[in-house]
Amino acid sequence: MLTVTWVTAKLLRHQGSSVGSLGRGGPVQVPAPFEYVRATSVEHALELLERHGPEARVIAGGHSLLPMMKLRLARPEWLVDINDVAELDHLTEDGDQLRIGALTRHAALLASERVGRLFPIVHDAERVIADPVVRNRGTIGGSLGQADPAEDLTTVCDVLRAQVVIAGRGGERVVDMADFHRGPYETACEQHELITEIRLPVQGRSGSAYEKVERRVGDWAVAAAGGVLVLSPDGVIEDAAIGLTAVGLEGLAVDAAAVLVGQRPSEEVFAQAGRLAAEASSPTEDQRGPVDYKRHLADELTRRVLRSAAARAGALADVSGG
Ligand SMILES: Cc1cc2nc3c(=O)[nH]c(=O)nc-3n(C[C@H](O)[C@H](O)[C@H](O)COP(=O)(O)OP(=O)(O)OC[C@H]3O[C@@H](n4cnc5c(N)ncnc54)[C@H](O)[C@@H]3O)c2cc1C
Repeated sequence: MLTVTWVTAKLLRHQGSSVGSLGRGGPVQVPAPFEYVRATSVEHALELLERHGPEARVIAGGHSLLPMMKLRLARPEWLVDINDVAELDHLTEDGDQLRIGALTRHAALLASERVGRLFPIVHDAERVIADPVVRNRGTIGGSLGQADPAEDLTTVCDVLRAQVVIAGRGGERVVDMADFHRGPYETACEQHELITEIRLPVQGRSGSAYEKVERRVGDWAVAAAGGVLVLSPDGVIEDAAIGLTAVGLEGLAVDAAAVLVGQRPSEEVFAQAGRLAAEASSPTEDQRGPVDYKRHLADELTRRVLRSAAARAGALADVSGG
């Protein structure tokens, strides 16, 4: 099945094409010719990327790259398969952070009790990413590497203030999500580099949540929101982060989060934050809906995730219902 997110569809429209009508004389559903090689370690993968030059691409689950190749939106000459690189597949609690190997599958994140307990937002998102077939192969590294504006884990990692570890021939660097994500399909990971790990900081007295509206089960988001709240011992919001998916907001909704800090969780402050998040969004009309509808979703979903995040952080009394 060809997967076409709204941006892909936009690219196709820009090229004067539509899905299934690319190429001369009928649909193009096979990739251009390419060579294939399997890496056995991070070092080996980096060496292969260097050896095969700028037209080499990493492949992990293949659930984003292969559809792009079938549509001829990507034409790598070499695929460097990292599925045998066992060192990239791990979930490690390390002091005050959870380290997630880049090759960790969506299904493994969803199956992990520890992930759900520490970061319920990850489970919220994983439950609504695609279907079990995609979740069994797709990886967190591939999701962040693809940087599709409708992709769910980028928002999750944004609000959790994750760090991304990027390996190159010269060594490793650790990049904050704010610097990692550079816009649609663009990240700080260069073509000859490898995402090796995602680090999520563990915080006490915090709660997190993700909500998405999709046209049918397993579809990409019409709109989605993610939120994190950190409470002081007496229940005041000490820190907050809000992110939106598929509605044209790059990074965090900073003003929306700022109105929460120093306040007690309440429907009133959540409504203010929802309104500001919607104002910060910049949706475009497409087959998933008009601009007004998406703005409305940004507002409503922000309120809902803040309610859940507050409840999960322990602030049950003031914010139930709504
Ligand atoms: C039918 C369908 C529905 C989907 N629905 C959703 C959805 O609702 N929400 C959602 O968020 N996603 C969705 N996806 C995407 C899915 O989550 C993919 O698994 C994910 O986006 C990419 O992960 P992957 O491992 O398959 O990456 P790949 O397709 O293998 O790679 C994607 C990109 O990342 C690069 N890359 C991969 N790993 C690394 C690495 N370690 N270091 C550097 N670069 C790397 C590749 O070179 C490529 O450019 C859907 C996919 C399909 C097929």
